[in-house]
Amino acid sequence: MMKKKLIEVALPLEAINEASAREKSIRHGHPSTLHLWWARRPLAAARAVIFSSLVDDPSSHPDQFPTEEAQEKERQRLFNILERLVVWENSNDEKLLAEAKAEISRSTDGNIPEFLDPFAGGGAIPLEAQRLGLKAHASDLNPVAVMINKAMIEIPPKFQGLPPVNPEARAKLGSELAWKGSTGLAEDVRYYGEWMKEEAFKRIGHLYPKAKLPNGTEATVIAWIWARTVKCPNPACGCEMPLARSFTLSKKKGNEHHVELDIQGNQIQYHVKPGVAKKIEGTMNRNGATCPCCGTPVGLPYIRDYGRSNGLFPRLITIVAESSNGRQYLSPDSNQTVIASIEKPSGFPTGKLSGKARVSVPLYGFDEITDLFTNRQLTGLTTFSDGYSLNRVGNPT
Ligand SMILES: [Zn+2]
Repeated sequence: MMKKKLIEVALPLEAINEASAREKSIRHGHPSTLHLWWARRPLAAARAVIFSSLVDDPSSHPDQFPTEEAQEKERQRLFNILERLVVWENSNDEKLLAEAKAEISRSTDGNIPEFLDPFAGGGAIPLEAQRLGLKAHASDLNPVAVMINKAMIEIPPKFQGLPPVNPEARAKLGSELAWKGSTGLAEDVRYYGEWMKEEAFKRIGHLYPKAKLPNGTEATVIAWIWARTVKCPNPACGCEMPLARSFTLSKKKGNEHHVELDIQGNQIQYHVKPGVAKKIEGTMNRNGATCPCCGTPVGLPYIRDYGRSNGLFPRLITIVAESSNGRQYLSPDSNQTVIASIEKPSGFPTGKLSGKARVSVPLYGFDEITDLFTNRQLTGLTTFSDGYSLNRVGNPT
């Protein structure tokens, strides 16, 4: 008789669905916060599928469960494990995991198979295989997916049960005790992450000035919004023409904001105003743009040519800051533009855009990977990716 696995006969779908749907609203401690991934699978569903693919359906053991009643009773016992197993809060319940592992071991005669997910993506499936005691292997074509899986599945097990190495934790009495699972590693990631942030701030913090709020206080900037520009081809105008689909900043009820264009001749000033945009919704559409100063329509071929020969100069149009009163939209000031006008850093990665990226942006003159970043962004990225060293006892140097 062919042995059947539980998944081939029945599943407690309601419990699995409910846990999977609930997971969407959980952020703290969830792998989805590690890095964005598309089509991320719920951990609950992955956990349920792996468990029920390994555990035998009771009908596979007529010697132990001779009647349908006996089989159904046993099935309900397995469902009970599964229904508790899929609950997010039980993800690290060692007693429950041991119970699940024992069932898997029993159904595989103690030869728990290794697990391979060749297209692992966000890694939910190999992560859950590992949680259920399987040796998990994962791969993917996309390097981002590989990095997520390394961080989630490959590296943490190497530090299982180990205490943190950072000097602060080591100085504490008894700090070498009771670091369950990856908690020691997590403590180090927090400590050294904070240290890297402080170090980066010392080096490049001056490039990220705070914004002045209308009430005279200062707030941290969370975004600078720039518009790419071309020179208006009308010789009588020649303004620096912004290319923006929309000048709306926020449609949030009670906090509506937009950018208003203050046009004097061929000079444009950008002012952030409360309320919805009244005058101009945007300058760009799918065929090209319209000059806000003289009304000349400009086709995409002109914009592409201009981008390739002169570049599409970025103009700061809004500063977004986070204050105690929530998100604030502020008019650009020249000081903020000047601070961002820096040279490219040294040591950034170079290379031509490839693959799908060649279809669109190179038409506008963006050829190199670095063309997709501002010089300040490149400086931030290179600062975080190099220039840090630790001495052997883990003290930042
Ligand atoms: Zn014009």
